Amino acid sequence: MVKNMILRCSGCNREYPFGTYSCKCNAGVLLAEYKFKKVKSVVEIEDHSKPGIWRFSNVLPDVKECFSFNEGGTPCIKSQKIGPKNNILLYIKDEGRNPTGSFKDRAATVLVSTEKELGHRDITTASSGNAAGSLSLYSTLTNMSLYIFMYQPTEGKFLHTVSFGHKIFLVDSTKESDAHQMAEDASKKFGWSWLTTMSSANPFNIEGYKTIAYEIVRDIGLPDVVIIPMGSGTLVLGIWKGFNELIQMGIISKLPRLIGIQSEQVNPIEQAYQRGETTVRPVTPGKTMATGVVVDNPGIAGSVALNAIIETGGLVISVSEENILNSFKLLPKEEGIFAEPTGALSVAGLKSCLDKKIVLEGQKVVCINSASGFKDLSAFKKVKRSGFQVKNVPPNLDLVEDFLNKQKEKDDSYIV
Ligand SMILES: [Zn+2]
Repeated sequence: MVKNMILRCSGCNREYPFGTYSCKCNAGVLLAEYKFKKVKSVVEIEDHSKPGIWRFSNVLPDVKECFSFNEGGTPCIKSQKIGPKNNILLYIKDEGRNPTGSFKDRAATVLVSTEKELGHRDITTASSGNAAGSLSLYSTLTNMSLYIFMYQPTEGKFLHTVSFGHKIFLVDSTKESDAHQMAEDASKKFGWSWLTTMSSANPFNIEGYKTIAYEIVRDIGLPDVVIIPMGSGTLVLGIWKGFNELIQMGIISKLPRLIGIQSEQVNPIEQAYQRGETTVRPVTPGKTMATGVVVDNPGIAGSVALNAIIETGGLVISVSEENILNSFKLLPKEEGIFAEPTGALSVAGLKSCLDKKIVLEGQKVVCINSASGFKDLSAFKKVKRSGFQVKNVPPNLDLVEDFLNKQKEKDDSYIV
């Protein structure tokens, strides 16, 4: 049984042992608490004999067996164009390079390893795609049975999830929260463990995500600002916890400013921020291409994340679909990073922050790309290109020459 940590409710401060999922007070989420030693650098706490994010096992639950697929260790890529153009030192933390192409792998490895420690065999989740694919992989590694309630997945995420062979229920509803409710109800009815990747459902999502902060500080030092796509706010909360732990260990002396980015179409946390409230209320979701952050009711997870952001002096911003689409197009062209639209939210948010002088010249900024563009290839159907890029040709180079000579002609041929 895990002994190196206790769980404490962020709302009522009550302590709980390993194996507790949430607090009945419904005013906070459970956060794992460790006894930290003072160290000088992140490198000192790494154990290179462990795979993936478990190299940080000194600050993760001490499970007997960690089920890793070499997740984490993603690069902070120094921007070649967007940063220099705006006179900022910009890095993009590319979480698309995780085993299933999304940041959710960091949570999934901790979730299944702790479930295995508890002796559980059947698990359930609700997801629009990335968490489903991720938990599918990690359940396969542990020989656990996974039951997935999927909500409007992209074709790529759906087929990827199907490939692992776990049971999938496609929830026919206009609300993402219905899928979550079904997974929660099913967990009670059928005795499955509920592993929805929201901090309010399980404390170990955050433990996985916090390793992003550890890697950022190890690789590029302390940034001024970290810009993060925001659905339920669990990723934000994980990164916030990581930086807080680094302060407790004496590695850094202050928190970076965290900025959460939502789509204008589904922005319950931003609305609460604008109202000056600390409690997030559900919204009726609109259509967004950033499908990974469609969370109409983040519940207590959203409220706790909002308060964490405010603690850092940060803020929550909503961005337009046009801004998301432009950033999504810009990332591969300018930086070589093929992100899904949800991942491009952070760069869309950066644009707003620069326009509003929230991010200032000379600052060190990290944008999180949460997932690979390969998870949502259909999004590229929305990208119209002007000018000649793609042509169907017969095997005749004379015609190629002809096309090349006509390059300047207006031609929107690349519409898939
Ligand atoms: Zn509580």
